[in-house]
Amino acid sequence: MRENDTLERMRRGIAWLLISCLTYTVQAQDHELKSTVEVYQDLQELQRGLRVLYLAAHPDDENTRLISWLENDQHVRTAYLSLTRGQGGQNLIGDEKGDGLGVIRTYELLEARKVDGGEQFFTRAIDFGYSKSAEESFEFWGREQVLQDVVQVIRTYRPHVIITRFPPTRNAGHGHHEASAILAAEAFDLAGDPKLFLRNSSRCNLGPLKYCTTTPPLGGISRSTISRTRH
Ligand SMILES: [Zn+2]
Repeated sequence: MRENDTLERMRRGIAWLLISCLTYTVQAQDHELKSTVEVYQDLQELQRGLRVLYLAAHPDDENTRLISWLENDQHVRTAYLSLTRGQGGQNLIGDEKGDGLGVIRTYELLEARKVDGGEQFFTRAIDFGYSKSAEESFEFWGREQVLQDVVQVIRTYRPHVIITRFPPTRNAGHGHHEASAILAAEAFDLAGDPKLFLRNSSRCNLGPLKYCTTTPPLGGISRSTISRTRH
């Protein structure tokens, strides 16, 4: 009887060992060996603690050179927030206008981010064509709603630095441009306030640290003006 018990225990032990080996083999197969380049990239990825949010009004306001440089040379995570989807722009190579054009511009930005490695965000603001002032843009958009969207992106992406493509003045040359910089500055101040826009308040104390503006013809971080810094 005792011998039978011993045999049974051995049988169970061997079965357990086989199942364990099988599981280990399956798990080992799930982890593919990586190339040296991939391991190097993974190590660099671990060093990427800094996040930059580049913010402007239209899809073609993006600065792909800056985004690519930050992402691929400086290994800084970078996202572009385009307030609109460019519905009001011109289409020189096709017949699409309005919302159809906005869909095309949206996909163009998503494809661009696949190339430069950045991330892409939008707000609900509509590109209704040329606007002579930020006030006019806010009347069309609903200032509070678009501001809420910008705050939401900041709380979601948690950038350490925000860079605007345009200054918050008439020098921006287009009401949407001017409005984008005004909203960026407001959102910079408000994103950390847990009493505002409570939809996602758990990250409210993780607002951005810097707010910068760049001049349109230059568009590079090297000539940027840091207008305020949070300590
Ligand atoms: Zn623009």
